[in-house]
Amino acid sequence: MKNYSPWEIEPKWQKIWRKKKIFQPDMRRAKKPFYNLMMFPYPSAEGLHVGNMYAFTGADIYGRFKRMQGFDVFQPIGLDGFGIHSENYALKIGEHPAKVAQRTEKNFYRQLQATGNAYAWENTLETYDPDYYRWTQWIFVKLFKAGLVERKKAPVNFCPSCKTTLSDEQVLPAGRQGIAGRCERCKTEVEKKHLEQWFFKITKYAERLLKNLEWIDWSERTKIAQRNWIGRSEGAQIKFQILNSKLQIPVFTTRPDTIFGATFFVIAPESEWVEKLTTPENRLQVEKYIKISKKKSEVERTAPTKEKTGVFTGSYVVNPATGKPIPVWVADYVILEYGTGAVMGVPAHDQRDWDFAKKYNLPIIPVIEGGDVQKAAWEGEGTLINSGKFNGLPWKKAAEEITRWLAKRGLAKKEVRYHLRDWCVSRQRYWGPPIPMIYCQHCAQNGVGEKKELPGWFTVPESELPVLLPYLKNYQPRGFGKPPLAQAKRWLSVSCPHCGRKARREVEVSDTFLDSAWYFFRYPTIGQPSAQKFAFYPQITKKWLPVDMYIGGHEHACLHLMYSRFITMVFKDLGLIDFEEPYKRFYAHGLIIAEGAKMSKSKGNVVIPDEYIEKFGADTLRCYLMFLGPFDQGGDFRDRGIAGMYRFLNRIWRIYQGGKKIGSKTSPELLHPLHQTIQKVTNDINNLRYNTAIAAMMEFINQWNNGGQLSKADAGSFLKLLAPFAPHLAEELWHSLTKFPTWEKMSKTSIHLQPWPKYDPKLVEEEEATIVVQVNGKVRGQIKIQSTKSKIQNEVEKLAKADPRVAKYLAGHAGGRAGKPPKKVIFVPGKLINFVL
Ligand SMILES: [Zn+2]
Ligand SMILES: [Zn+2]
Repeated sequence: MKNYSPWEIEPKWQKIWRKKKIFQPDMRRAKKPFYNLMMFPYPSAEGLHVGNMYAFTGADIYGRFKRMQGFDVFQPIGLDGFGIHSENYALKIGEHPAKVAQRTEKNFYRQLQATGNAYAWENTLETYDPDYYRWTQWIFVKLFKAGLVERKKAPVNFCPSCKTTLSDEQVLPAGRQGIAGRCERCKTEVEKKHLEQWFFKITKYAERLLKNLEWIDWSERTKIAQRNWIGRSEGAQIKFQILNSKLQIPVFTTRPDTIFGATFFVIAPESEWVEKLTTPENRLQVEKYIKISKKKSEVERTAPTKEKTGVFTGSYVVNPATGKPIPVWVADYVILEYGTGAVMGVPAHDQRDWDFAKKYNLPIIPVIEGGDVQKAAWEGEGTLINSGKFNGLPWKKAAEEITRWLAKRGLAKKEVRYHLRDWCVSRQRYWGPPIPMIYCQHCAQNGVGEKKELPGWFTVPESELPVLLPYLKNYQPRGFGKPPLAQAKRWLSVSCPHCGRKARREVEVSDTFLDSAWYFFRYPTIGQPSAQKFAFYPQITKKWLPVDMYIGGHEHACLHLMYSRFITMVFKDLGLIDFEEPYKRFYAHGLIIAEGAKMSKSKGNVVIPDEYIEKFGADTLRCYLMFLGPFDQGGDFRDRGIAGMYRFLNRIWRIYQGGKKIGSKTSPELLHPLHQTIQKVTNDINNLRYNTAIAAMMEFINQWNNGGQLSKADAGSFLKLLAPFAPHLAEELWHSLTKFPTWEKMSKTSIHLQPWPKYDPKLVEEEEATIVVQVNGKVRGQIKIQSTKSKIQNEVEKLAKADPRVAKYLAGHAGGRAGKPPKKVIFVPGKLINFVL
């Protein structure tokens, strides 16, 4: 018998599968299309780490399973190579990103091949390929024409280290100490700048993005993350009259029920109202305060633990509910995020306002019952007090009635706000698709533009796409207002599409998240004759999209997953497709840690799959990774564990190659376990419970080893179960079965194209055992239980206690006598249980 040698059989089968295009569906004629997609990887030059392989293997098993169930599975792969991630790496090693990309690409595809995943190798794509980013630019143009692109001055996130703007989603969120407000890529603290940038109007889709979450089949925690990010809040816009003036300041509040408790008013240092409200005698102090607060970061300003500071403007506004004047303060715990940067201060019911009021001795008037507002703000629910005719109303009802009451006087209206803001897509970097816009000074001066509100700006005509990224030797970021492309003098000079005069190209590139927001639309079209004419060919798209199964990381909930949903909705509205959610099902996998710690480059514990593939083979690594725990929970990678999995695959090898365990007929004692294993593995893969599927196969191999034979057909069935997990080993053994003549006909094709084995329900059903139940040695009942469970005390005890004939004697159970818990439980496996009271 030959030894199990993955080093020989794995490359051999990989070559054959690829040559025979085993995993390449017929894109036009497929009858049962199933689009199985794994999240777009952005590998660095060091290549895939074991965390990537974990995700890909889990997705691959699912795809292989579906293929064997008779679907035409399309499982493409590609590379997200544009963007800050790759560019920062190139900067670090002092190489040109285009050169790094070449190397990365080669290494990446080599590694993927070695993992044995069943990819449609004819359909690969890379985001930096002009054939691809031509269409990324086309999308920008389409959105512009649809009125979904805006150029506006707005507070944007700016990373001083990456020297570029970032979208809100690329700034690490609050919640984890020490990282809030930092750049997602380099962890530098992000600054707020007031700058003119390109935005996609994703906020127009906020309600739809939220509503559809009710029906799409996604992991619940990812839905929750999206809901929070969209952050819908209902409330009211309330106007505060400035004392002795006709001007009114609108504020948004989610708690109009607390308005009687508004004892002061706060504006942000950046607010346009500062100028109007500061009286001459307070000017000096206010200016001094603003100067100091400008030096603070947003994180510093809004941290709940930070001491609140502020300064009085000298002005008052009128509380519209009480009619009393309240002082206006400038305080930097208020941020100029939305609207006017003004809030009403309700110290009794908002902790930050409470801190502020305590420090500056402002009145604290409780208007909602509950808590002790002299000690802390009461942010809970309750009935209204100190609120005139609204006293006694529950707070929610009061909020509505107060809004209505103020609305009658024109001082309030209901309003819905979202945390989601428009997507800032400009980047002052080099390594991305140039934004396909042209600016003409002449047209700007004449007030002419493709859009009225944007004089001077024109989209690049679609026939002239792509706008190729020019090769720049010095591609380093230079800071705001100086994108690297501004140096490409010849490239940026272009004639105006409107007047023909000398104009210039936009020198910014688009956000890398735009590249990945639509890649799955492109995959099926690649290789089609229409690929040059369409971003995604309508007929092919109709056949294959939306994606049937999408597997990826939960950490992309508010980035990629939100953006790709938005882009899909836009495509629908443009009449390009007839669905509006890109993924029928999204499954979030867990994360892999190594030897108990999070993998990170700085800790030096990043596990690269290559060395393990060399040592044990890809099949062993695949099975080991999937055995670490439930797929949605991840697991801890340990060197010791992987050897155990290698021994398991060896055991399988020896059973099949030994020649004694496979015969003409399956032994009766193996029939029942085999069909149970088929049922278990089938159900487990369906639910992506790969670890328990592997455990079931291990158990079966033990039983088979202990005695009995399988028929050739049944031996083949077991290999089919193994095939998604250990595809090379299963294929090799499948073909070795041909030495049995009757088998020859069926094994001409790959095991991965065989139908998934079926179990016989009759053989799965288990015999029932009868257990006698006694209380103090007297027979009180009998229970029936599956025979395997009849040997497990916990299972039997649970069932016996639930039997009303028995329960009435036991304390703590329905109808049981008080004070008589069983002192002892005597258990005879499979026969008897006796509760001794
Ligand atoms: Zn950064
Ligand atoms: Zn012009």
